[in-house]
Amino acid sequence: MQSMVTRCYNITEAKPKSLDFIKVIADELNMILMNGFSWEETTVSVRLRCITCDAPAKAMLKCIKQFSGYYGCDKCTQKGNWEGRMTYQQVHDLILRDDVSFREQHQPEHHQENTVSPFSDLQIDMVKSFPADYMHQCCLGVMRKMLLLWSRGKSGYRISPAQLREVNQRLRNLRCDIPHIFARKPRSLDEVERWKATEFRQFMLYTGKVVLRGVLPETLYSHFMAFSVAMCILVSPHLTQTYNMYAHELLTYFVEQGRHIYGKEFLVYNVHSLLHLTADATTYGSLDRCSAFAFESYLHQLKKMVRSGNHVLIQAAKRLQERSQIPIETSEERPIQMKHPNNVYIVSPTSCCEVLERTNSGKLLCRVFSHLASYLCEPCDSRIYGAFVCGASKIEILDKTNLQGRAMMLEDGHGRQVVLSLLHDLD
Ligand SMILES: [Zn+2]
Repeated sequence: MQSMVTRCYNITEAKPKSLDFIKVIADELNMILMNGFSWEETTVSVRLRCITCDAPAKAMLKCIKQFSGYYGCDKCTQKGNWEGRMTYQQVHDLILRDDVSFREQHQPEHHQENTVSPFSDLQIDMVKSFPADYMHQCCLGVMRKMLLLWSRGKSGYRISPAQLREVNQRLRNLRCDIPHIFARKPRSLDEVERWKATEFRQFMLYTGKVVLRGVLPETLYSHFMAFSVAMCILVSPHLTQTYNMYAHELLTYFVEQGRHIYGKEFLVYNVHSLLHLTADATTYGSLDRCSAFAFESYLHQLKKMVRSGNHVLIQAAKRLQERSQIPIETSEERPIQMKHPNNVYIVSPTSCCEVLERTNSGKLLCRVFSHLASYLCEPCDSRIYGAFVCGASKIEILDKTNLQGRAMMLEDGHGRQVVLSLLHDLD
């Protein structure tokens, strides 16, 4: 497939001008899906889980109108409203698209004229197989939008310079408490234009609720928390299974209330698509099972394989071939961490610990916090999504099988030690 990409697509261009190269890939993919992938004596059957991309690329691949068009939502048929930008004001009773209505073009205005998606030849659901990507739409979309509104927006919801300084100071204070599993430490909102998707995710799922509490006006904080809690649920396979309907209620409230707080123009495509997000998370098990984060991470690895600007594909191919010669580590266990800020683990729904050292018998000496309280009570008990306040602790010996999951421990600016379970996909 690589040779076809290089033949059909000039890699020096930022965006492809034609879909010729996608047609080649879709045809080859169709063949692999039907016949499997043959390697030496073995044939491996292949299944397409989903096609993950941002909204502009999705419109190109599906040959539909862009999200900025009147019929640009790829999940429902509502006509957009122009409010200085394209918005989608309807929140309830949405008429959803499905594979049949898409292929039969029940709403012609949704489709580009005289073109059909190369993916239509595949035996896939042309709506469900293109899920929303929360990396682009929620992290780089909704979360970024709100941070810009609070720090640089209109006076009705822009926080004061003193409040902004307080949030920035709190973010800086958290830098030493962020586990190394996060690629980046918190940066101040003065640098928000340069934040990466992982930084917005960190804020949306974890640090935002701590650094904004008591600073952001209560109405704005409650509104943000509806979004944050819903996202905490939908990135976790376990929580998605149990609380997906609740997450949908929160996101519906968030969209509807967003119009009252920030005005009609708040309901752009990224905000509107939150109404479809729970369905995608439920279909795939969680948002991380259909997001671009894994691909972004791999792209980063690929970039590191390239040492000069000449023959970049050949360089990457050589590095990949070298790697394929190295035996794969079979152990999937992560080593137990024993130093702050990496040594915090959830032990049970009501207790967590910091691992201090390994004993001679191979057990773990831990500081155990056994009566975790709720950090927040609105919009629900925060223990549901793993946000706790630590109380008294005692030293205990635990077995590594007692450790149920990773967490981080933060100082919240009011002397409280807050523990947050790590919910997103850590791989
Ligand atoms: Zn829609």
